[in-house]
Amino acid sequence: MARTIRPETPHTGWCARDHRCGVTEHRAPPVIADHLGARAIVTRVRAGDVEYAEITARIPLARHDALARRQVGLTLHLLRRLFAAVAAVRPETLPTAPARPALDRRTAA
Ligand SMILES: [Zn+2]
Repeated sequence: MARTIRPETPHTGWCARDHRCGVTEHRAPPVIADHLGARAIVTRVRAGDVEYAEITARIPLARHDALARRQVGLTLHLLRRLFAAVAAVRPETLPTAPARPALDRRTAA
């Protein structure tokens, strides 16, 4: 029987550092978003050298089948838009530190 040996990876600065982490996978404490009866749990994960957001969501659907199918279709459409929006975030879109005057700066007399 072959045995896979994976080298242990160190905890990250954001992972939970508890039972949620594995030998090669590190997981942040989950963040919960809920609104209008829907709920999503987002967890930041690093597995090896890949990092991703894991999303589990529960979205109430209408009892009417045609309406529920439309709601599922809309959910898929919006998930694709979410993927595109997240993928579009680049380092250059991050705000730069605001310019602050030095507290000990003295004006020339
Ligand atoms: Zn960890």
